Amino acid sequence: MPIDATQPYDDTNVFARILRGELPCRRVYEDEHALAFHDINPQAPTHILVIPKGRYVSWDDFSAQASDAAIAGFIRAVGLVAREQGLVAPGYRLLANVGQHGHQEVPHLHVHLFGGRPLGPMLA
Ligand code: 5GP
Repeated sequence: MPIDATQPYDDTNVFARILRGELPCRRVYEDEHALAFHDINPQAPTHILVIPKGRYVSWDDFSAQASDAAIAGFIRAVGLVAREQGLVAPGYRLLANVGQHGHQEVPHLHVHLFGGRPLGPMLA
């Protein structure tokens, strides 16, 4: 079920639990701003989720409330993961779903990083 992106942050969400080490993940990168791990249900040969370490429901509250350092650190981490995965030359896709119409299911901001095959045209 898609979430309401205006809801308060829920500390029991699955990505909060991964961040606290309560649930396992296949980690590919971590720094002070971000954690990146493989999606449990990959939609492409490479399907990685990059999440900020702060308590943000979606791109909306993150972009409005996070510090410039947190935003810069997160965006840099996304690019770094893509480079480390060898995705720059073949190309890749970034996606952030927000709320009901965006069909966001996990209420902790995450950027999907897809690659490893031609992804075709963007689907709206
Ligand atoms: P959304 O629809 O919210 O943008 O995407 C949520 C993503 O999180 C989905 O691609 C889903 O497969 C992934 N996901 C949900 N639960 C888990 C989990 O426990 N571990 C991992 N690694 N991915 C998860």
